[in-house]
Amino acid sequence: MSSTRPESLFPLFAKLETLAGVGPKTAKALSGLSVERPRDLLFVLPHALIDRRRTPSVVGSVAGDVVTVEVTVLRHLMPSRKGLPHRVFVQDSQTEFQLVFFRGSSEWIEKQLPVGETRLVSGKIEFYDSQIQMPHPDHILASEKEDDLPQFESVYPLTAGVTQKTMAKACADAIDRTPELSEWIDPALRAREGWPSFITALKSSHKPLSQNELSPTSVARQRLAYDELFAHQVTLALARKTLKAKPGRPSVGTGALRAKVLSALPFKPTGAQGRAMEEIENDLASQDRMNRLLMGDVGSGKTLVALMSLLVAVESGGQGVLMAPTEILARQHLDDLRPLAEKAGVVLELLTGRDKGSERQAKLKALKNGDIQILVGTHAAFQEDVAYQDLRLAIVDEQHRFGVNQRMALAQKGNFVDMLVMTATPIPRSLSLAQYGDMDVSILDEKPAGRTPIKTALSATDRMDDVVSHLGAAIAAGKQAYWVCPLVGESEVTDLMAAEERFKHLRAALGEGRVGLVHGQMPADEKDRTMAQFVAGDLAVLVATTVIEVGVNVPNASIMVIERAEHFGLAQLHQLRGRVGRGTVASTCLLLYQAPLTETGRRRLEVLRETEDGFRIAEEDLAMRGAGDVIGTAQSGMPRFQIADIETQSALMALAQSDARKLLHDDPDLTSERGRSVRVLLWLMEKDKAIRLISIG
Ligand code: ADP
Ligand code: MG
Repeated sequence: MSSTRPESLFPLFAKLETLAGVGPKTAKALSGLSVERPRDLLFVLPHALIDRRRTPSVVGSVAGDVVTVEVTVLRHLMPSRKGLPHRVFVQDSQTEFQLVFFRGSSEWIEKQLPVGETRLVSGKIEFYDSQIQMPHPDHILASEKEDDLPQFESVYPLTAGVTQKTMAKACADAIDRTPELSEWIDPALRAREGWPSFITALKSSHKPLSQNELSPTSVARQRLAYDELFAHQVTLALARKTLKAKPGRPSVGTGALRAKVLSALPFKPTGAQGRAMEEIENDLASQDRMNRLLMGDVGSGKTLVALMSLLVAVESGGQGVLMAPTEILARQHLDDLRPLAEKAGVVLELLTGRDKGSERQAKLKALKNGDIQILVGTHAAFQEDVAYQDLRLAIVDEQHRFGVNQRMALAQKGNFVDMLVMTATPIPRSLSLAQYGDMDVSILDEKPAGRTPIKTALSATDRMDDVVSHLGAAIAAGKQAYWVCPLVGESEVTDLMAAEERFKHLRAALGEGRVGLVHGQMPADEKDRTMAQFVAGDLAVLVATTVIEVGVNVPNASIMVIERAEHFGLAQLHQLRGRVGRGTVASTCLLLYQAPLTETGRRRLEVLRETEDGFRIAEEDLAMRGAGDVIGTAQSGMPRFQIADIETQSALMALAQSDARKLLHDDPDLTSERGRSVRVLLWLMEKDKAIRLISIG
């Protein structure tokens, strides 16, 4: 089927200059609104409405009212000296009042408002010396041109060099060149929601006839939002289908190895862990390739779930790999997993970029002949020359920075290989549907029992001396602490200087040999050495930039100090805090801020003081900052929507997901009548990636 854009859409994808009233200058200016082609204008909707309904008279209006009234021009009063306005006395059906002009030539004004003629004028009313005036009317129309002024005038978002008039005209032209498109929404759904057709929805969203129609909850806007979400979800569903269409292989475990591990554990899996393990086990046992996300807060016990899943692969005669984003994390996983794996007699090895020469060769050989059953590694585990005997499961840890495209690239590496992605960043359901809609999701929303809550406190940086002396007392009592330095973001160099500064200060205050420093620019072995000293308890305080953000586990560390906490995102603060509270002692998290905090700044930090529930924190963060900011730069996998609002329209997103999945289930190649309409939608919404998937699939 066609992998070129349908001809009916060509006018919408032509150059902007082809639009009425748009020249090269305006075209350039429109890029300020991310408008590059006529199509983009369809989705730039008015955000306000001016009521231009006619009234018989200005009498009764109050200052600030917009009034549209028919008047007869009585006389002009030219300014007698500079600085005075040109006044035009006019008569409506009940009273005389003035139109006032501080700008514009008298000649022009007289031409617009000839004495003795009637005109329709519309503008804001003001009072001067208790006299009614209309300064600079927005519209002056001859009575026969009255139809040019709609009852309700749309107000568009603007950018430098683009006026309301230009926008209104260009948008109207873009709508005019939108063809009648056959319906892509499920007819039953459309009927149930009372949604208009696409073209009708466009028209009434651009020219609303009431405040209600301007609202995001109007049927027209809901429909357009749905179109946007649906196009996105069809894309994800296509990615999911493409992945699943690759032959998978059932891996059915015997349970023997898992039983050994479970009986060696000093605890029972939580209900959530149990559910996740079961979901994964079922996926592994099925013909289809697994494409699953395991989402669980820091400390929710993802490691055990990962190990159990890897053991299924091993029990069924194959291998598994666990990939971490950094060297430190890969080692941590190895240290966590190895003792348990040994209980089951399973061989586990580490492969990172640091393996070189004959040692690396030996590992590769052992991997190829199946002597290594579980590999833990960094991206080095997926290099070209790394061959497995029988890889069945790949787990990718902490990949919240991955988007759907990267996941697909990774999945393409191994045929048959089932994929599990783990993330420690809880995100609200609406965001996870948008970001991970191509995957199945298991959630660990239950903390293992017997955990001591973390006490969180806020303090201004000017109490630094107090903070340091308290810390001194705590480490004298055998406690260990993290001290996280801010990433203010001006430059890495200055951030690093701040961390080094703090390091020197703490070393001087707490003892030379008791404080260590790790940061992103350090040579890896030096970093590891310092980390190892902290893990062993030789260092009491570890000063760090956010390299400790993901994953490290030092149970004896019970104090977390975060400097300039106001610069961090809530989710990031929550993650950092999760580094403590892993042992049996009561833990503290101290959020240091630079006073004065803004109102919102304080509220944000207080959320952390109130709760340790990562999902709740994520919801609050979303509510306070909006989706764009929550996702920030860290999570590039997140799509942006023009009309849909993922904060308030998560139900619509869920609907779009199930509808998209159902469509592809019923019509996998999009060849039915509706399927063909959906292809046009994908073109219209510029989902080129998805279109390529159909052409391949
Ligand atoms: P995550 O990777 O999700 O941050 P971990 O897997 O590192 O969490 O688990 C955190 C700690 O909780 C570990 O020390 C682990 O042994 C322990 N743990 C895991 N599951 C349970 C459980 N069901 N009951 C008690 N402790 C558990
Ligand atoms: Mg972990």
